[in-house]
Amino acid sequence: MLRKFFKTFFYNEDYCFFCKENVIKNSYLCEECISEIRRYDKEIFNDYGEEIFKKDILFYYSGIIKKKIKEFKFENGVYLKKPFGKLMFENLDKTLLEKMDYIAYVPSSKKKLKLRGYNHSKLLAEEISKYSKIPLFDDLHKVKNTKSQHFLSLEERSMNLKNSFSVEGDLTGKNILLVDDIHTSGATIDECYKELRKANCNFVWVVCLCGVF
Ligand SMILES: [Zn+2]
Repeated sequence: MLRKFFKTFFYNEDYCFFCKENVIKNSYLCEECISEIRRYDKEIFNDYGEEIFKKDILFYYSGIIKKKIKEFKFENGVYLKKPFGKLMFENLDKTLLEKMDYIAYVPSSKKKLKLRGYNHSKLLAEEISKYSKIPLFDDLHKVKNTKSQHFLSLEERSMNLKNSFSVEGDLTGKNILLVDDIHTSGATIDECYKELRKANCNFVWVVCLCGVF
């Protein structure tokens, strides 16, 4: 009974971080949970038709991923950065990764950060940075508090986000990997991309943990 209580409420690195049932050795997840994750096909999007932009969505926002992302974002599941970060790193194109100078992340507003205590995209970026040894870029900021995007139309979403991000510093000639958690309309990524381009960066590679299709 007590053991079950501990396994439910705390994580132990000997057990799978998702189901907390199966014992694991070298990874954070058991084979059973890994087999439930749906990989999005390897196709790389390029919404802008520009050679300097690529977008990769790694998994479907469904099943076990959906359940665990909710815990990660809204139920203080900070420990889930480990399996998610590792999953992301393992599924990245390593040839492209080698060319990156910095790893940036979609920032949260100060208000949201205060409310939640952490920025989940930053936690993912930190994990990828740890594995790849590519430094984190901390100077993409959210400068405007915006309405939640949930109930807005596509057009309203992009209006809502207009001029809400800003880059501090000069990124001339730099290649940036931009990390996000869930891809929905892409409006947030659009705005971050515009700001990174204004800072003169050479290439932006967006990688989202999962996407709603
Ligand atoms: Zn498991």
